[in-house]
Amino acid sequence: MRIILFGPPGCGKGTQAIFISEALAIPHLSTGDMLRSAVSSGSEIGLKAKNIMESGGLVSDQIVFSIVEQRIAKDDCEKGFILDGFPRTVNQAEKLDSLLSANNKLDYVLRIKVDEEEIIKRLIDRAREDDKPDIIKNRFKTYNSETQPLIPFYEDRKILFNINGMQEIEKVSEDIKKIIGVF
Ligand code: AMP
Repeated sequence: MRIILFGPPGCGKGTQAIFISEALAIPHLSTGDMLRSAVSSGSEIGLKAKNIMESGGLVSDQIVFSIVEQRIAKDDCEKGFILDGFPRTVNQAEKLDSLLSANNKLDYVLRIKVDEEEIIKRLIDRAREDDKPDIIKNRFKTYNSETQPLIPFYEDRKILFNINGMQEIEKVSEDIKKIIGVF
């Protein structure tokens, strides 16, 4: 099963991705995690990504796509995967399409909806280096301008499902369970 977990920063998609990954025994692919590990390893990609990530902007489509492309080609992705934080632009979504063949299309885009105030509270609690208040605002601006257009993109294909992320973590998981009908 190929799933995209979609929503603004801090909506809880990482937490839900871990549950789904364990339940379905498919890998959780977080581009944020992959980029953070590139930054800490000091690789070329990491050096390019560092400042952009710290400002709350988006790393170039080319860099992110090359990471995803290499990861999806691995054997453990054969039966599926959960993408968390990718795609974040329509261009990334189109590139992802070109990577997936006719018989391994996306099954679900799960959109976790939350309100902005709640997200800011969660991000401050999480307090990562790129979670300072002005950077949080920038991440929202980026989400609204670059990532929101993916909603109609996937709605048109009838694979987008909305989930109320303002509930207990367990309840959000249950709603996901009902939609994907598995675990
Ligand atoms: P995340 O952990 O998903 O919130 O990602 C942390 C940061 O990594 C983001 O604020 C971006 O700077 C960068 N990033 C992660 N995924 C992507 C992506 N798909 N496209 C561009 N930048 C990304």
